[in-house]
Amino acid sequence: MSQSVCILGATGSIGESTLKVLQQHPEQYSVFAVTAYSRIQKLVEICKQVKPKIAVVPACYQDELAILLKQHQLDVEILTDDVGLQTVARHPDVDIVMAAIVGAAGLLPTLSAVKAGKRVLLANKEALVMSGDLMMQAAREHKALLLPVDSEHNAIFQCLPEQYLNLDKTGKPQLGVSQILLTASGGPFLNTQNLDAVTPAQACKHPNWSMGQKISVDSATLMNKGLELIEACHLFSISEHFVTVVIHPQSIIHSMVQYIDGSTLAQMGNPDMCTPIAHALAWPQRIHAPVSALDLFKNNQLNFEAPDLKRFPALQLARDAMKTGGTAPAILNAANEIAVEAFLNQKIKFTHIPTVVEHTLNKLEHSVASDLEIILQADQQARHIAHQYVGEIA
Ligand code: NDP
Ligand code: MG
Repeated sequence: MSQSVCILGATGSIGESTLKVLQQHPEQYSVFAVTAYSRIQKLVEICKQVKPKIAVVPACYQDELAILLKQHQLDVEILTDDVGLQTVARHPDVDIVMAAIVGAAGLLPTLSAVKAGKRVLLANKEALVMSGDLMMQAAREHKALLLPVDSEHNAIFQCLPEQYLNLDKTGKPQLGVSQILLTASGGPFLNTQNLDAVTPAQACKHPNWSMGQKISVDSATLMNKGLELIEACHLFSISEHFVTVVIHPQSIIHSMVQYIDGSTLAQMGNPDMCTPIAHALAWPQRIHAPVSALDLFKNNQLNFEAPDLKRFPALQLARDAMKTGGTAPAILNAANEIAVEAFLNQKIKFTHIPTVVEHTLNKLEHSVASDLEIILQADQQARHIAHQYVGEIA
């Protein structure tokens, strides 16, 4: 029977890859809802292609979208804003939710999907970084299947014993696992010694992956790896102590798991998000993805090195925030979102990004993240402090 998919963030890079995979399996999947934030024309093209029942946009685009849909004789219901996003995420007709909105904006709809017990394909790592235990607890309680789409976490999931997903938190590796090796390409500035003058265009030019702007900058600062470290701790119920970051510039190995018997399992493939998306869509089955098989004769160099925490302090900030716990990761994430935006708008230097994050973490006291309100409040306060600081150093 065909499964019905809701794509949160359909107009983005992950949204596009998701549509590419789904297009190959029209009998297995249909698209029930799609959402966009600013690219309305692109959303209309998607509606023409997949004919969803519902499209969600900010209220300011509702009229424009209605006119365009009518012009193309498309019968699509329009919902708006956060209420619209949450409505489609938990809609009874939806089986699978692709959580691919970027940043904190994805938290509420992703959590709605989890609380509705959906199969949730998690690309929006910021949502889990912010809400951590709360989201994992909700997944267990509502029997949601939270499957990692982030390539590293998808790789780790493939290398772990199956029971690992959504385990109760012990902090220690279980079932013979000794540690997780989280790989990182190192980003476009792996070998750039002076990062003071690098531009947004240079930061967004990732050597191996084509992604949205925010995650591209995060990859360049290594904050992406920091967020992923936090994401891994929550998804796999393991403390940060057992997650080692390994720089692997070729992005062929997408991460590894080590076992107490000396085994190291790795998942490999060409760097294309269609693979983890197809895996998470069909798991425990396997389906075709539009990705060529890995040619090891062409990719015959695999290198590994330790990250340089001096040039990339964001990684350590994230690790420390995970150790601190409570609202610290939400504060880290919010400050980073503000700093990245300021860098993209050329208000601050690249090297200011971790400075803004560190300043915000020092200034704002963290607390126990016992409910959503507290997390959202920490997010807002952190944004305020980070904004102010950006104003001071700009
Ligand atoms: P993009 O910037 O390409 O896409 C983001 C999507 O979210 C777009 O559909 C955008 O709409 C929508 N959006 C942006 N802001 C809002 C908002 N405030 N409210 C509602 N929707 C919004 O990002 P990516 O696809 O690259 O990344 C999406 C998520 O997946 C991120 O969390 C990222 O970290 C994660 N991820 C991405 C990978 C990749 O390869 N790209 C790999 C692993 C994880 P619109 O375009 O209409 O403005
Ligand atoms: Mg990743």
